[in-house]
Amino acid sequence: MCGIVCYVGNKDAKPILLEGLKRLEYRGYDSAGLAVQDGEKIRWSRAVGKIVELESKLNGVEMKGTIGIAHTRWATHGEPSEENAHPQRDRDENVFVIHNGIIENYHTLRKKLEREGISFRSETDTEVLAHLIALNFTGDLSDAVRKTMSQVEGTFGIGVIHRFTPGEIVVARRGSPLIIGVSDEGHFVASDVAAMARYTNKVVHLEDNELASVTVDDFSISTAQAKHIVRSTETVEWRAQDAELNGFPHFMLKEIYEQPMTVKNAIRGRLEPGEGVPKLGGIMPVWDKLKECRHMVLVACGTSHYAACVGKYIFEKLTEIDTEVGLASEFRYRKLNFPPNTFVIAISQSGETADTLAAIREAKRKGASLLGIVNVVGSSISRETDAGIYNHAGPEIGVASTKNFTSQLTILTLLALLLGRHQSLSLTEGIQAIRALESLPDLMQRVLSQANHIEAISEKYYRCRNWLFLGRKYNYPIAMEGALKLKEVSYIHAEGYAAGEMKHGPIALINPEMPTVAIIPKDEMYEKMTSNIHEVKSRKGPVIAIATEGDDRIRDVVDDLIEVPATLDFLNPLLTVIPCQLLAYYCAKFLDRDIDKPRNLAKSVTVE
Ligand code: GLU
Repeated sequence: MCGIVCYVGNKDAKPILLEGLKRLEYRGYDSAGLAVQDGEKIRWSRAVGKIVELESKLNGVEMKGTIGIAHTRWATHGEPSEENAHPQRDRDENVFVIHNGIIENYHTLRKKLEREGISFRSETDTEVLAHLIALNFTGDLSDAVRKTMSQVEGTFGIGVIHRFTPGEIVVARRGSPLIIGVSDEGHFVASDVAAMARYTNKVVHLEDNELASVTVDDFSISTAQAKHIVRSTETVEWRAQDAELNGFPHFMLKEIYEQPMTVKNAIRGRLEPGEGVPKLGGIMPVWDKLKECRHMVLVACGTSHYAACVGKYIFEKLTEIDTEVGLASEFRYRKLNFPPNTFVIAISQSGETADTLAAIREAKRKGASLLGIVNVVGSSISRETDAGIYNHAGPEIGVASTKNFTSQLTILTLLALLLGRHQSLSLTEGIQAIRALESLPDLMQRVLSQANHIEAISEKYYRCRNWLFLGRKYNYPIAMEGALKLKEVSYIHAEGYAAGEMKHGPIALINPEMPTVAIIPKDEMYEKMTSNIHEVKSRKGPVIAIATEGDDRIRDVVDDLIEVPATLDFLNPLLTVIPCQLLAYYCAKFLDRDIDKPRNLAKSVTVE
């Protein structure tokens, strides 16, 4: 979601900022802008739409200066318009602010400022920051920002420049990520390493309620209470080619195809086949407690939430742990009452999902221990949990999550297997599970080899405006994930249902124009799923089945068949989700959608 890039160095800021913004495009945004300080004056420009709009607006415009701030906005307060885009500025155009997040008490602050005679130019919550910083400024920009931080509620990552402090950018965060990058060309501050990966992999993470004053050759971090902080740089892994298309037409397709590799990366070095137990170094700090755990809560949002839903079934299968799933955005509003030694596991690709962060903070307050399953190393969730497991799936650029989902499922399986082996799971069962995990990448490859067939099925149905996805047990969350994927990238309305629930409502919708994707691998739910397919067929609904290779019985009943290789029941979702991803991708392609950046969506959802 929305991005921040700031630069102060020895090079022209404008091209560096534009390039940084382009690297953040994948996160989803609706408008963009930047401001550059030339020592005397601050010049700025903003545009609605893609970065190329801003770029063409700036074409030929003189904007000298080696210090500047830039932003991609994902509107929360006020429509996407030029005036609402960032930077926002104060009345005298001294202070320029870019902001990710939401100022929750902006309404009260705005009313107060208006009573004091300040008129607002935009509808944004951000504009109050510009006015407050200007009012609080007495010569030291850090002090003005610090004072402003004490007046605002909500979440923010901000970058600020002031006309009268020409060599300096002040940044601050509460809830939204900010990372300082140290390079030979100067300093960067960004909400995501992608923005500066071309220049440096040496970074310093800012923590919540900290601010930093950044100049060409130095940076100084302090807390909201003005306590100086010393923090050394870390080196982040980032391979430039991970962020390139490498011949694929879209990142979504590239990432779908990367899944055999990302599953391999998730299990690499983490299996002890002879013992039938995984080894997960990241959770060792809490192992003594974790192995006694009998109650677990998996919290997440969106696709990660569906991974959690599959995870619950896997935990029930492999362990004795009572496992529940919490939708992160609802979780903190519940009356939480955890049994002793409860572990809450936060699952998030970016590790910055605001709802998930809020959920784990509440869980901690209520005495739970925290684990994280995140992809982005050093992200807020990875730092706020007691221990965790990284996905090592590489950057996921497509807004609709694909490879992270299967990576999350793999890691949840490893964790369940590890805990199960310390409970009642036998050595034979452990070895069998490990063998099945090891063979998954090849099986996934086999599913991917049917992409042309899935493309042809998509061509047949992409004009249908409503779809139904059905599954049971492990594949019930896959039905929900399949529907979500289709909605996200093709804008086709789809519903994911537990197949047994169809007769309690959605069956009323079945007609020849509404395809049903039935996920029916050969598992314990097979017979029941077959009956549900017959129920759809009896009402003339077309059925696309995702079934186990060689299932001729189902072939005779359904309209279209996509085969997946046989594996252990609880690993089926890792295979059955791939056809769902491909169906969504190809339908979106036939409908000519903006597949990697679907409208209104953002990659890393840093607002609640
Ligand atoms: N709340 C701010 C706005 O609507 C910032 C949104 C963002 O994070 O991009 O302008």
